[in-house]
Amino acid sequence: MIGRQCPGAECRRVFRLDGAAFDAFEGHRLYCPYCGATAPPEEFLTDQQRRYAESRVARAVGDWLSGELARLATRPRPSSGLSLTITIRHTPAPLVPLVERLSRRHVVCVACDLRYAVFGMAFYCPFCGLREPLSVFDENAQVIEQELLLPARLRSVVRPEESQILREWEELGLHETLVTNALVNAVSAYETALRGLSHQAANPGADPGRRAVVAKEIGNSFQNVERGRECGQRIFGFDIYSCLSSPELDYLSQMLQARHILTHSSGIIDDRYASEAGRPTSDVGQRLCLRDGDILRLLQLMRAVVVHTKQQAGL
Ligand SMILES: [Zn+2]
Ligand SMILES: [Zn+2]
Repeated sequence: MIGRQCPGAECRRVFRLDGAAFDAFEGHRLYCPYCGATAPPEEFLTDQQRRYAESRVARAVGDWLSGELARLATRPRPSSGLSLTITIRHTPAPLVPLVERLSRRHVVCVACDLRYAVFGMAFYCPFCGLREPLSVFDENAQVIEQELLLPARLRSVVRPEESQILREWEELGLHETLVTNALVNAVSAYETALRGLSHQAANPGADPGRRAVVAKEIGNSFQNVERGRECGQRIFGFDIYSCLSSPELDYLSQMLQARHILTHSSGIIDDRYASEAGRPTSDVGQRLCLRDGDILRLLQLMRAVVVHTKQQAGL
């Protein structure tokens, strides 16, 4: 596996490519698996590889220069009255060590069959850019589930005398941050999957001009059950939620709304959320508390909608 880094100024995230697959790759562009930025392969060198390459060049230039100067150097001649001595002291330029982190998650693209590795959530294949929306959703759901397991795993490996770090973790509310983050990521993975399927259905030829039209039509419809249903009806011609029971659909709707208030109003319950979640009006103004189980149940429902949409649409 060889490391690559997104050339996008905002992203700059690192991923890895299967060495043999990269050597055999004949494409003229790579894609960032995290943000989808695309550029010629040589622009994807990591900062470390770039520094290493520069240090190799600096050493080669230094070696060449010292060799040339040594040829010019003269030795003192005892027979002549006048002598000039040039002494060359050359220390080779240090090479920057090339140490690459071990990757966390290996992926084989179902479209091009090439292998790569990513850290955390990823949405694009670095080789072909395209990804099958359900596989991407499943991979990202797995990452979210593993993140949620992290505190329990930490507790199982940290010795009691080191538990100060866990207390600090809890005092800082990091577990809550983790659950909130998991909800935001779950909604993002779900929206991306439904958007991907929508593009496949409404723009099978992947025409770039048509893509912009479809993207505009979708907007952020899938962040809301009602708007998502209308958008799905227009694009697929069926109800994308018909696979869910009424309580399941209510739960999905509540959690989408929960993401909205966590992102936009620090999780303070408003009238709309209270009414959609069937909570008493006395809860308005209180802060929403989510648990790991909420996210796990949500991921199952989201997956059911994505699978149903893919199957019904014949994609
Ligand atoms: Zn990127
Ligand atoms: Zn691919």
